[in-house]
Amino acid sequence: MTLQPRREPLLVRTGARFTCEGDGLCCSDIHAVGPLNEEDVEFLSTISEDAIDRHENEDAAVLMMRSDTGTCVFWSEDGCALHAKLGAEMKPSPCIQFPYGLTATPAGGRITTQHRCPCRTLGTRAALAIDAARLCIVDGDGELKPDHSVEGPIAWSESESIPFVEYERREGSVIESLVDGKSLRRALDADPFPELDGRTWNDVADEFRAFDGPSRAAAAARWFGDALGYLVDWRERTEHGRPWAAPFDRAGRRIVTPEQPNRVFGDWLADEVWALRWTPFGSLARARAELATRLTVARRIAGWLDISNPTRDNVSAAEAVMIVDVVGSTDLWEGV
Ligand code: SF4
Repeated sequence: MTLQPRREPLLVRTGARFTCEGDGLCCSDIHAVGPLNEEDVEFLSTISEDAIDRHENEDAAVLMMRSDTGTCVFWSEDGCALHAKLGAEMKPSPCIQFPYGLTATPAGGRITTQHRCPCRTLGTRAALAIDAARLCIVDGDGELKPDHSVEGPIAWSESESIPFVEYERREGSVIESLVDGKSLRRALDADPFPELDGRTWNDVADEFRAFDGPSRAAAAARWFGDALGYLVDWRERTEHGRPWAAPFDRAGRRIVTPEQPNRVFGDWLADEVWALRWTPFGSLARARAELATRLTVARRIAGWLDISNPTRDNVSAAEAVMIVDVVGSTDLWEGV
């Protein structure tokens, strides 16, 4: 029987934590900050002529990034000028939402978080609070707005689909083991680099290494391609610059009690499973193999980051998660 997705009650993943420390990574060109809604555009236009960018062939308006630093025109070392002068609620809607997301499921709305910011992945973070998150995932009319929806039943493997309530029960122990962080590969119960249709992992490495240009996202793709090439064929690295050195160095300085790298990786993997964004691509078994692959790549990248920038290994792990998370949402990776 098909069960329809619901937005309420709001649900939080066990162990999810987040505090905005103002590390500023989300205010940089990791993604175009947008799309801005009509209200955002109207308001920003009254503040500055240079606040909005419109990419060629795309309708959506996004926040303008400075060409020299790759950061938002409102950002400085002191943080967001809009936040400081007008208050958090006056920021553009995509800024208010980050890093939160919402997946509607038959049991309610799962609050999700992206791991693309050291504020999410490092340090003493407060337990994720439903009331605070709710304010960030509603539209202009105060309605909860899911970015993803799933119906029951759920494909546990290629040959087994199960009711959502049974899925939740089984998923709970997977997430618990991932958050625990002791043996992530055992928790995933999957091998990396599954066989691909019509291409090899070396081909995939080539495609990522071929990303061109000065953007941080392109550099992240080259790190990813290098790590893949090294893991499957011992190939040499081509990319050495750290795409997000400044915010991670800043975050490293504020950490008092470093976490084990496995806890950083496990927290990310737990959210990847919890968000259920893998459902359009097949079963959880398939998602586990995909995650085992990105985990293996992330560990290789973290090792290189430790060598090229001797810092604490928890910061390298978080920086590697940042890279594999950005790559994970590219069209190229989704195709793979
Ligand atoms: S408007 Fe403020 S919060 Fe939004 S990207 Fe710019 S600096 Fe960051």
